[in-house]
Amino acid sequence: MKHVTDVAERFGAAAQFVGGRAVEGTGESTFSVVDPASGQPVWTYRTAGRDDVDAAVAAAKAAFPGWAAATPGERSQVLYRLSRVLEDLAGDLARTETLQCGKPIRLSTEFDVPGTVDNTAFFAGAARHLEGRAAAEYSADHTSHVRREPIGVIGSVAPWNYPLQMAAWKILPAIAAGNTIVLKPSELTPLTSLMFAAAAVEAGLPDGVVNIVTGTGPEAGEPLVAHPDVAMTSFTGSTAVGRRIAELAAGGVKRLHLELGGKAPFVVFDDADLAAAVHGAVAAALINGGQDCTAATRAYIQRPLYDAFVAGVADLMQDVRLGDPADPGTDLGPLISAAHRDRVAAVVERARAYADVVTGGAAPGGALADGAYYRPTLLTGAPQDSEAVQREIFGPVLAVLPFDADDEGLALASDTPYGLAASAWTRDVYRAGRASRALTAGCVWINDHIPIVSEMPHGGAKASGYGKDMSLYSFEEYTQVKHVMSDNTGVARKDWHRTVFA
Ligand code: NAD
Repeated sequence: MKHVTDVAERFGAAAQFVGGRAVEGTGESTFSVVDPASGQPVWTYRTAGRDDVDAAVAAAKAAFPGWAAATPGERSQVLYRLSRVLEDLAGDLARTETLQCGKPIRLSTEFDVPGTVDNTAFFAGAARHLEGRAAAEYSADHTSHVRREPIGVIGSVAPWNYPLQMAAWKILPAIAAGNTIVLKPSELTPLTSLMFAAAAVEAGLPDGVVNIVTGTGPEAGEPLVAHPDVAMTSFTGSTAVGRRIAELAAGGVKRLHLELGGKAPFVVFDDADLAAAVHGAVAAALINGGQDCTAATRAYIQRPLYDAFVAGVADLMQDVRLGDPADPGTDLGPLISAAHRDRVAAVVERARAYADVVTGGAAPGGALADGAYYRPTLLTGAPQDSEAVQREIFGPVLAVLPFDADDEGLALASDTPYGLAASAWTRDVYRAGRASRALTAGCVWINDHIPIVSEMPHGGAKASGYGKDMSLYSFEEYTQVKHVMSDNTGVARKDWHRTVFA
């Protein structure tokens, strides 16, 4: 019950953050943030309606000229201060992230929050490195240079699996480059995005540069993406919603950045370090309850290691401590909701017709019966074209398949609609090189799977979308390139005019 009081005390009735202030929404419905560990609502808020979206976009539009005119150094200072405010809030942010998502507190404390602080510091530095590429006389009579300019108001829509990091990945490069932004977090998990926006204002960010609208996709997301004053949409979420967002953005010919679903393969060659591969697979399959777009979901094991790998993963999965996410001893918390747990369970039930469930395949019951828990699950024997191998499950479920020739394993690994991330496990540098070229993915790990860093891009290929988060690649996406060409001659009648009139 303590958290119920905390959340109500912190946020009151204000689920929207507009023009530097937390305010109540004016939408017609209410929505509850539910603690997935208990199934109990912890906060009920009025959702954003079209008027709230209009007000947030208007605030962002009004703030744009001033923020775009701030020097890179001034923007950088605000972001450095924000990184320190976030550090001071670290414990609170971690507890709130765990409360609303059900992710183990160790993950919130050691991954989500420090990752966000580091990202903020990275973009504080990046803000001072916005550079065009050219400054030369490409025509003898003219000097050219390139300006990288902010785009305007960015409309962002984010998912529930890493709410704080997703808010940071969208907001930071956008504002470091001089844009202003309206972010719609998932209606399931708005709390840490609201805390992030308040922290930014505390750090000195001018009012209106960052705004949050909280509500459902159809009520708040669609009007935001379609809003005529939103110049670019950046979205992270499922491929199905990404398609809808692309349709909405097409009407306004808006810039688009789409980070969509994944079905990451984990390819183990016969010379791999078996213990490292087994530990790596269990960690990469179960991180955040498998609700991670880059989680290992399909392991392809070269035949000589197959039986030992399956036995090793099954043993380790059985040792995983499932339980209260607020307990630092817990490895695996509940999934985001009972409805999502039931979807995961339904995929596994259908898989029993074509695969063996080696371990897991059930909710735990007992003291955990009220939460959205699901046991770590290992499937073998699923065909390559089956649902469990082709479709994103977004739960703690790993399918393991054997392969013989190297090329066969690599081809199977790239054979899904997705292309977000992949890993290859081998001690042979030439195999590693071939795998890193052959795997269709935005990120390939060699002898690891999951780590990310602020300096390197994150983003996919194929149905996993396009556009990059983090790194200077993402920073550049939130800018437009302008070529400026200046006449060097000062003469009224220039040589090239003869091509138009003699
Ligand atoms: P989702 O697509 O259901 O929802 C994402 C966001 O879109 C939410 O804020 C939701 O309210 C909003 N939304 C839903 N319908 C909308 C509409 N019609 N118009 C506008 N907005 C709408 O995804 P989710 O269930 O929140 O998150 C899980 C998905 O996110 C998975 O598919 C996962 O792979 C993906 N994901 C991808 C990455 C990546 O970097 N590629 C990272 C994290 C999550």
